[in-house]
Amino acid sequence: MDLDRIVGHKDIIEHMQSSIKNNRVNHAYILDGPKGIGKMTLARAFAKTLNCEKGGTIPCGSCISCKTFDENNNPDIIYLTHKTAGITVDDVREQIVKNIVLKPYRNRYKIFIIADAHKMNTAAQNAFLKSLEEPPSYGIFILLSENSSNFLATVLSRCVVFKLRPVPYDAAARYISQVKGIEYDDAVLYSRYSMGNIGKAIELIDSSEFRELRDKSAEIALQIEDADMIRLYDIIDGIKEDRERLVRMLEIIYMLYRDALVYIKTGDEKRLIQQDKINCISGIAQKAGSAALIRRCEAIEDTAVKLRNNGNAQLLLETLFFKIKER
Ligand SMILES: [Zn+2]
Repeated sequence: MDLDRIVGHKDIIEHMQSSIKNNRVNHAYILDGPKGIGKMTLARAFAKTLNCEKGGTIPCGSCISCKTFDENNNPDIIYLTHKTAGITVDDVREQIVKNIVLKPYRNRYKIFIIADAHKMNTAAQNAFLKSLEEPPSYGIFILLSENSSNFLATVLSRCVVFKLRPVPYDAAARYISQVKGIEYDDAVLYSRYSMGNIGKAIELIDSSEFRELRDKSAEIALQIEDADMIRLYDIIDGIKEDRERLVRMLEIIYMLYRDALVYIKTGDEKRLIQQDKINCISGIAQKAGSAALIRRCEAIEDTAVKLRNNGNAQLLLETLFFKIKER
């Protein structure tokens, strides 16, 4: 996807294009943001534009560089791979340090796209630093990161850092409805639910489990409102085993509480993320006040963190439900 077709990230795209226009392209960039936000899409579009033989701010699509790029076969755009969980010093030496000294085959730039760059350990970053400190005129690095605080200060200081922000919901929804062939209103739900993260939204659309889980979570959220202690223990028994599923379920219930809060404050169904669950949301809103819903959301966040850290699911759920039932 070319720079002018990318949804969202307008400020970053403008920056990239003006650096090309003004001949002020930097040797290293960090694109920082959560999984699914569009880092690789942006990096690839930038790389294609940089190497287009026409030298414009939008790739021409017909030169050899553009054509080989579209065929995923451009020899001067290199994707760093890693076999282990982290990026090691050997990965950096083999794929970057040894390679950067060789001139590009036929393009203006040799561009290294480093996915998972936040997974470079200190030794790997130090090895990388040598290439970063004195890059040849043709060398460009684009680092994709989910956590730029993992970088050494010496690495950070040599990179232009772009923070990717969520895509506006309506723009994301228009795009999603087009590429996934779903109704715009459905697409709005997913774009809001994923907080403007198109990658995450598409993953959710493709997941049949997510739909089932959403229905189940809404059902349980409503049951909790009227449940006595015995019923609460039954609910806990039904959901505590599959920890990953449980955390996702709590995320959905969190969003329902967030919607109930918005519904109390505004009475406007259109502002809700899960508009299709309006019966559940208005039911919760009738039983719980704003202060209680805020407390509940905090309790869920706390519980989810502890569940991820392997806390005892039974105890954590008992504590959570007790807090939820507090009036
Ligand atoms: Zn071109």
